[in-house]
Amino acid sequence: MINPDIHGVDYQHGQTYGYYDVRYFVFARDEYICQVCKKKGKILHTHHIVYRSEGGTDRADNLITVCSDCHTSEAHKKGGILYKWMKNHKKAKQYKEPPFMNTLRRRTFQKYSEAEITYGSETSHKRKELCLEKTHYSDAIAITGIESIKENPEECFWIKQFRKKKRSLHEATPRKGRKVKNVKAKRNSKNTKQLNGWYLNDEVICFGQRGWISGFTGTSSAYVANRNGEYIQIPSKNYKQVNLSDLKPISHNANWQYVVA
Ligand SMILES: [Zn+2]
Repeated sequence: MINPDIHGVDYQHGQTYGYYDVRYFVFARDEYICQVCKKKGKILHTHHIVYRSEGGTDRADNLITVCSDCHTSEAHKKGGILYKWMKNHKKAKQYKEPPFMNTLRRRTFQKYSEAEITYGSETSHKRKELCLEKTHYSDAIAITGIESIKENPEECFWIKQFRKKKRSLHEATPRKGRKVKNVKAKRNSKNTKQLNGWYLNDEVICFGQRGWISGFTGTSSAYVANRNGEYIQIPSKNYKQVNLSDLKPISHNANWQYVVA
C-alpha cells in the first residue's frame, strides 16, 4: 500500500525481493552491524522504530538491526541506550498502515456486507500451497478460493481518500521570519472549502467527464480532477481552471470518493 500504483513486476520486486524474510533483508541492509552500539558479529534482532502498538509496520523501513545486548527490556526504558537511540532517530513521519486499513475496511464492508476478513499471512501461505506466483491475481485466487479470475472484471469498486485540508496553503504559524502570520497572502482565497455553494470533493460532470472539485481560485473558478488526479480542462484550451457554471453536480462528498465501474 506504500504506492498503490505499482503492479505487475514491480509488485514482485518490492523492498524485500530476493530475501527470504524481511528480517534478513534488514540485517543485510544494515550490514549485520548493530545500529545502536555499531558492533559486528553479535547475535542480531530486529527492532521496530515505530512500535506496532503505535501503528508501526513490519516493513523494512520500520525495522533496524540491533544486537541482543542492546535489545533488552532495560534498554527500552527511559534512559536506556535503545531509548536514547530512538529519541534521536525517530522518524517524524511514518505511514501508518493499520489505522488506514481500518477506515478502508469499514467502508468496504458498508459496500459489500457479505465480505469476510482475511490476512496477508494467510494469503501468502495459501498462495504457496497452490504454487502460484506472487501477483495481485494470484492473491485474489488464494483469498477467495475461486478457480479463475478475469483480468478485466466487469465491476470494480474504487475508493479513494480525499483530504480537504490543504496544508500547502495553510499558514498555521508565522513563516519566513514573520512575527504574525500572513493573513493577506493571495493564496488564502484559494484555501477555502467552498465557493458559491460548491464544496471541495463534490462530484461533478465537467465537459462530459466525471471528476471531483480539487480546489478553487478567483471568484467563480475551480479545479476539477478525474479519478487519476488529472485536471479536466476546457477542450482546446490549456487552462486548468474551469468556470463553476460549466459544472453539473452529481453528489456532495465528505472525505471519500467512490466509483463502481
Ligand atoms: Zn548493540
